[in-house]
Amino acid sequence: MSSETRKKNTEEQRLRRNESSRKSKQKKRDAEISIVFEKEVESQAKAEETPFFSNPHAAEIDRQIEAFRKSRKWNTKIINTSHADFIEDFKSNVFTNFVQHTFTKSYLKKHNCADCGGKSENRCHGPGDERPILIKRALERVWPDTSKEIALKEIMVAFLEEHKNTKFALKCRACHVKEGKP
Ligand SMILES: [Zn+2]
Repeated sequence: MSSETRKKNTEEQRLRRNESSRKSKQKKRDAEISIVFEKEVESQAKAEETPFFSNPHAAEIDRQIEAFRKSRKWNTKIINTSHADFIEDFKSNVFTNFVQHTFTKSYLKKHNCADCGGKSENRCHGPGDERPILIKRALERVWPDTSKEIALKEIMVAFLEEHKNTKFALKCRACHVKEGKP
């Protein structure tokens, strides 16, 4: 073997080595990309399984929350009270009035019954998302530790926020009565 041939062979080996190293690096990159891709597909599938429901009144709720936060009312603090006692004491007065004041009569006039298109008269939480249940979800979210003081305002804001994940709707009296019935 001439020295020229040997040199050429070594050169070829070096190129082959480089090529194979390049290929294995590319393979590794492809594998990494496919893992990322699979994860994305997985999370998309999950998102499709549990679709996020956006309530048609969400924008109004946000607007009301912003105004409510600025108000000087509802700074009363509570502490060491069970969620059950809180719900029992406030669900039918404070929170009923609060829903009525948030979705005013003039707002109702602008939105017809979600079911029949008639005149809407009722603020409907719908089966499974009743007012006390939304209060409970709000309490669990913003006041898990009842040994810590909280302002009523914080609970009320959280309660309004909870509406955005429900089918809360404005309906006429007849459609409201029919709710949840076959
Ligand atoms: Zn109706």
